Amino acid sequence: MRKYVIVGPVGSGKGTQSELLARDLEIVHISVGDVFRWHVKNHTKLGAQVRRIMAAGELVGDDLAESVVRERLDQHDWNYGFVIDGFPRSRRQTEFFLESYDIDGVIHLDLPDAEVRRRALARRLCSRCGMDYNLIADRPTVEGRCDVCGGALVPREDDTEEALAERMRDYRARTDPILELFGRKEYVVTVDARPGIDEVQREIRERLGLPMPR
Ligand code: AMP
Repeated sequence: MRKYVIVGPVGSGKGTQSELLARDLEIVHISVGDVFRWHVKNHTKLGAQVRRIMAAGELVGDDLAESVVRERLDQHDWNYGFVIDGFPRSRRQTEFFLESYDIDGVIHLDLPDAEVRRRALARRLCSRCGMDYNLIADRPTVEGRCDVCGGALVPREDDTEEALAERMRDYRARTDPILELFGRKEYVVTVDARPGIDEVQREIRERLGLPMPR
């Protein structure tokens, strides 16, 4: 069983790299942000609670984030393990996580602020099927339309300049203590997230002693 945590700023490729690991190693990719977005989109009670917080780029309360993670992991659909992205994001969440689960490695994707802004502001999501695009590296064939379902492409609600600045400040302030806590007990690998997707994936595999991508 393999259990990983992936930590990195907005646009560092946490979701993309997690998906590649998950697909190849048959582990489950858990994105806490996706779980919250699902609730917002489907107008659930939880969605109503977190919608404004997310749109402002602020963090949802620790209690709520922890219960979402606990509920998700309690489903036990992860026979071969998981890679969790977007959690933990605070000292308290890290302590909760360390008490509850054994981790095999923490992947820290490192990206300078200027590149974080450039990537995040170019990000688009399909309003219908949720497929994501990037106007720098992964453009749709027809401008503004999803290649898969033809839905309209829109920026994520929290990818505005203002919300982004808030998330970046917050990220820097919170990440160092998280890495420090994990570093005491676990295996943190810091990987440069600037190269292309495949190169970053290869570096992650090498550093964690995992088989190379097929
Ligand atoms: P992400 O897609 O990971 O950037 O998450 C989007 C938003 O979901 C964040 O800006 C937060 O509002 C919320 N969120 C995701 N993960 C957490 C977490 N671990 N703790 C608190 N809020 C979170």
